[in-house]
Amino acid sequence: MSLGEPAYRGAQLYHALYAENCFDFAAMTALPAALRKELQSGWSISLPKIQRRYPSADGTMRYVLALEPGHESAENSGTTIETVFMPEANRQTVCVSTQAGCAVDCRFCLTATLGLIRNISPAEILGQVIVALEDHRPVLKPQTNVVLMGQGEPLLNYDAVIAALRILMDPQGMAISPKHVTLSTSGIVPGIERLARETIRPKLAISLNASNDGQRDKIMPINRKYPLEKLLDACRRYPLRSWEHLTFEYVLLGGFNDAPEDARRVARLVAKIRCKLNLIPWNPGNLPYHPPDAARIEEFRRLLTEKGVRAFVRYSRGQDVMAACGQLALLESSGAPHLAQISI
Ligand code: SF4
Repeated sequence: MSLGEPAYRGAQLYHALYAENCFDFAAMTALPAALRKELQSGWSISLPKIQRRYPSADGTMRYVLALEPGHESAENSGTTIETVFMPEANRQTVCVSTQAGCAVDCRFCLTATLGLIRNISPAEILGQVIVALEDHRPVLKPQTNVVLMGQGEPLLNYDAVIAALRILMDPQGMAISPKHVTLSTSGIVPGIERLARETIRPKLAISLNASNDGQRDKIMPINRKYPLEKLLDACRRYPLRSWEHLTFEYVLLGGFNDAPEDARRVARLVAKIRCKLNLIPWNPGNLPYHPPDAARIEEFRRLLTEKGVRAFVRYSRGQDVMAACGQLALLESSGAPHLAQISI
């Protein structure tokens, strides 16, 4: 906006919004009274509206958020997205969506059944974090983690995602450390290569989910475009910072990709990549897969560990309110998370 004010007023406004969580122009006391009045009369601050809350017995809160009509096209007015807030002992994690729906069509994910409804804006991405934190303000822990693992493929809405992340990770903005922000992708190789060139970037997680191309083709059609060799080559070239590792997510689908030979193949695939593997037992949804049995999960983890791969079993939270990984769809008209583990 241009109000003929000096640039530092813009910085003050930015600081009030993102660092001080002040969403009322009248309360922005760093600004002169006349400017506050002008802002109040001609501008407004809006956040996604909470349409519904689904509290889980484990403390997780699943939100259905209505997007502002100002960002809607006539064709998809009334779009909602979903966001999940997960409290832990000394921190909270907010899982945000980066698109309404998703075009990637992973076969184990309920989001895929929605198709892509539309890309969302940087404000709509940041707004999810703000709404979830504001709703828990009195009980917030000092540390916030943000994971881009809700509905949508973040690297297919690249510019909006990066614009939002710059504010999220800006020490003068929301000041969340890049160590506490994770972007999860289904494996969009050009997007990974683009992200590698960003100076400020989040941590990266890759949804692997299969131990060979034939298997991955069946559950992730994106693999035909970016097969494992290309994807893992991009991972090997990814410029990890000294403190960083890649995370591979592997959704265990009972009887499909959870055999001991799958574990051995996965170990070979990720050898020589500084990484860890999160094993995510599939969350039941209205899709033709089965949760893996407990003995298979443990054996899979043990085989990877024996081959020198750091592997962890991650159980999703909020399953009772369909807030767990891959479940956030169909209970409402739209919304579902990228099928990835939330506790990175
Ligand atoms: S797993 Fe992620 S990329 Fe795949 S369809 Fe679901 S939301 Fe899209």
